[in-house]
Amino acid sequence: MSVWAVIVAAGRGERLGLDRPKAFANLNGRPLLAESLERLESSEWVDSIVVASPPDWEEPVILLAEELGCGKVVSVVPGGETRPESVRAGIAEVAEDAAVALVHDAARPVLGEDIIDRVMTALNEGWDGVVPALPVSDTVKRVRGEEVLETIERSDLVVAQTPQAFVASLLRTALGADVAGATDCAALVEAAAGRVRVVEGDRRLMKVTEPADLELVANWL
Ligand code: C5P
Repeated sequence: MSVWAVIVAAGRGERLGLDRPKAFANLNGRPLLAESLERLESSEWVDSIVVASPPDWEEPVILLAEELGCGKVVSVVPGGETRPESVRAGIAEVAEDAAVALVHDAARPVLGEDIIDRVMTALNEGWDGVVPALPVSDTVKRVRGEEVLETIERSDLVVAQTPQAFVASLLRTALGADVAGATDCAALVEAAAGRVRVVEGDRRLMKVTEPADLELVANWL
């Protein structure tokens, strides 16, 4: 069974306020992307890696992968304007006969082998897709502008993270639909009537968005 990891790293990361894309934000002296690259490279589950790079940053991504000795990286392609478009560009590089596509946000650098284990083991139980997720601990409200419209029952809500694993052919088909508005890959597979399961996520898989997030995750490395 061949497992292809697709790292989506093409986000601009404007909220970080840097002079370079988020994937190259400094995390303990290395580009943020180095963490996901190394951790997927050393995962026993992963056979090959594709990176959807910030456009015009393909060369630095290739150099970084070489420096880190990431021999599983087989392709680095420019990402798209939106996350699903970057996933689409990455999946286009995945071998036709790949069994599993494991999609991961470069913006979540603290990727443990235990979480890869969890999503892959669940996928092998026969699901179309598997998503790590966390329960919602705060009260959730729907608002319009400043006005609260309602408070939402949170007991059956979870927050989805990555890495998300899919039967590769199903994700490929799901990406053929209109992807606008899909904030994760699972949403596309769900919309295509795929059966998606959640497994326990990890707070350390938090997505780096603000400058303070970089300090937080740096402490968890
Ligand atoms: O923008 P956001 O932080 O939600 O992005 C999540 C992940 O998707 C990040 O790793 C980012 O690099 C990636 N992304 C992408 N292409 C885009 C936008 C986001 O690869 N156009």
